[in-house]
Amino acid sequence: MSNRTLACVFAHPDDDAYGAAGSVALHAAEPDFRFVLVHATLGEQGEIREGFPATRETLGAIRRGEDEAAWRALGRVPDRHEWLGFPDGGVADVPFTDVVDAVARILEEEQPAVVVTFGPDGVFGHPDHITIGAATDEAFARLRSEDGSGFQRLVHGVVPRSVFERWNRQRAELGLYTFDPTQTYHMRGVPDDQIRITVDCRDVTARIVAGLREHKSQLHVMSDDPTNSEQWERRVRREWYAIAWPEPEPGAPMLTDLFDGLP
Ligand SMILES: [Zn+2]
Repeated sequence: MSNRTLACVFAHPDDDAYGAAGSVALHAAEPDFRFVLVHATLGEQGEIREGFPATRETLGAIRRGEDEAAWRALGRVPDRHEWLGFPDGGVADVPFTDVVDAVARILEEEQPAVVVTFGPDGVFGHPDHITIGAATDEAFARLRSEDGSGFQRLVHGVVPRSVFERWNRQRAELGLYTFDPTQTYHMRGVPDDQIRITVDCRDVTARIVAGLREHKSQLHVMSDDPTNSEQWERRVRREWYAIAWPEPEPGAPMLTDLFDGLP
């Protein structure tokens, strides 16, 4: 039987709302699809926008609730959702082997066919993103030699540089601040030739945006105009992934799904 377990390992509640939500929605109805979601932190150090009813003490629990509501709104809740409870903004300060061990414990139990995490760019250069991505890579490398159908593919969620540059130009035209990819916390892209999987999410953009909207405490961070559904739906039409393992063959065709080409 084919293994259709997907494990997504991210840093903060809302990384997942962009990260792989389209792929989950596209597979949601398949009976053998299993969705495992791991968050390194509760996002308790996130911004609290003016007037939002949260305090520094309550924000982590609120964001956890928002994340759970987001998957309900998308229409497919995780089969297993783990919160590792590392400090928001401080994952890089945790002994690296502790982070690797925490991820590996879950992956070993789940034997996912595909693992999604951040690449070394962290999409935003966020140290939490970069650290959880590196720890997941390390856990994957430790486990992939095990017998069985797990650990067939390790991918990094990324933005192609050409798309990043187009978005940045559009931002400049709209008078919004532009991203400087040399700066931490600014979006960045990866060279287009690193993109090995492009997923067409147009059939599920409304479901992705329904999920994004549930991250109510973070809407001001996630979008310049959270009321503009059309703009959000355009932004999430595609998901792009680089394949970290196995090393892609030069000239291999672009894949169109996380499980594309797997037995
Ligand atoms: Zn994040």
